[in-house]
Amino acid sequence: MKRFLSYLIIIILISGVFYIINNKFNIKEKINNNNNNNNNNNINIINTAESNQDDIIYFAKGMSKKDYLSAVNINNQKINSNKKYQKILYNFNEHLDYNELENIYFNLNNSDIFNLEIIGLSVDKRNLYSIEIGKGKKVIMFEAGIHGAELANPLFITKFIIDLVNDYESKDRDIINLLNNYKITVLPVVNPDGYNTSIKGVNNIKNKDLFIYKNSNLIDFNYYKGNLNGIDLNRNMPSQNSGLHFKRYDLLNTVVLKPSINIMEYYAGEFMGSEPETKALIYWHNKYYQNIFAYITLHSSGRVIYSSKPNLSNELNNLSDKCAQIVNNITGYKILGSDSEEVGEGNDGTSTDFIAELLSGYNFSEITGRLSYDKYDEKISKLKYKACVINIETLDSYTQDLNIIKDEYYIYNLEKVFKNLIKQH
Ligand SMILES: [Zn+2]
Repeated sequence: MKRFLSYLIIIILISGVFYIINNKFNIKEKINNNNNNNNNNNINIINTAESNQDDIIYFAKGMSKKDYLSAVNINNQKINSNKKYQKILYNFNEHLDYNELENIYFNLNNSDIFNLEIIGLSVDKRNLYSIEIGKGKKVIMFEAGIHGAELANPLFITKFIIDLVNDYESKDRDIINLLNNYKITVLPVVNPDGYNTSIKGVNNIKNKDLFIYKNSNLIDFNYYKGNLNGIDLNRNMPSQNSGLHFKRYDLLNTVVLKPSINIMEYYAGEFMGSEPETKALIYWHNKYYQNIFAYITLHSSGRVIYSSKPNLSNELNNLSDKCAQIVNNITGYKILGSDSEEVGEGNDGTSTDFIAELLSGYNFSEITGRLSYDKYDEKISKLKYKACVINIETLDSYTQDLNIIKDEYYIYNLEKVFKNLIKQH
C-alpha cells in the first residue's frame, strides 16, 4: 500500500510537470484594444501550427502579427447623416459606376434603418464600405464584388438593399418586422478599383504607377478578376492553407507566382493579407463573425453553389448545405459538394475559407502568419459559432449586358433568395 501511494505521488508530480510545460508552449496572448470606435476587442494570438509543417511548401509568406492586429483594428469611420431619405428607383436600366454606387449608399444612409461605415481604402484610394441594415440580433453577411469583372453582384445586392429601405420607409409591415428581427451587413464591393476599371476603362485608374495600369494593354477587363496590384483578393486571405500546397500535390496550373494579367490566373500575393482590400475584409469578418447565422459571398460563373469545406467540420458543411438548399429550391442553381473543392493545392485563401475557420474557432498564429487551430493534428469536429458559409455563383458567365443581368435577378428571383436566406432562423 505504501509503495502504491508513492507511485501515485510520483505519477501526479510527473503529470503536473507535463501540464506546466504543455501550457507554456501553448500560451495564448490576449490583446485588449482600447481604441474607441471599433468592436474587435479580445483577439487571440496563438503560437501553434496545426498543419504538419513537413508536408507543406509555402509559395507566399504569412502575415505579420502586427499587420493582422492593425487590420483587425482598422480605424473605421461611421458616416453620420441628418438629411431626409430621398426615395431611389433602380431597375438595372443603367450601369452604376463606383461613384454612383457610393452616392446611393450615402442617400440610403439618410434612412434610420441604414448605417454606413468606411472600413478602408482600396489600392487606388477608393472608400471601402460596410453597411448595416436592421436592428435585430441575428446577423447575416453578404459580400460581393471581390472579383473585378463580376459586375452583376454589386448591382444585385444594391438593388436588394434599395428595395428593402424603400419598403421600410413606406411602412411595409413585413419588412419592418424583418428588419426588427435581423441585421443584414453588406460589403457591396470588395474590389472597387477592379469593378470601376471594368465599367469605365483604364483611364479611370487614378494612380498611373500601379501594375495593372502599366500592363493594361495586355488585359481584357471584361474578364479580369484581380485588384490593381494584380492580386486575386480571393486568394490573399490568411486562412490556414493559403499560399501553400501540400508536398503530395502539385501546384494547380492556374496558380501563378507573379502578379496576374489573365482571367484564369490566381496570384495570392507575396504576403498573405498584403492588400488594403483584404485587410478591410479581415476587419469586417472579425467584427461580425461571432454573431452571424449565415455568410453569403456572390460570384459570377456558372449558376452553381459552393457549400463545402472538406477540411472543416461536418457540422459546418451540414449547415452550409441547408443554406445552399434554400438557394437551390428557388433558382435551381446546382449545389457542388466537397469533390469540387481542392484543399492544399495552392488555391486556398478565399474569403469563405477565412470566415469558415473563424467560425470553427481558429485563431491567428504568429508562427504561420495564418489562421490555425489550437491543437496540432486534431481534426475539427465542431463549430464554435454556428453559421452556414456559401458561395453563390449567379449568372452563366461574366457579362456586362444589363438585359441578361436584369433577367437573372427576376427569372431566378434573387430577391426571394436573399430574403429566404435571411428568414431561415
Ligand atoms: Zn469570382
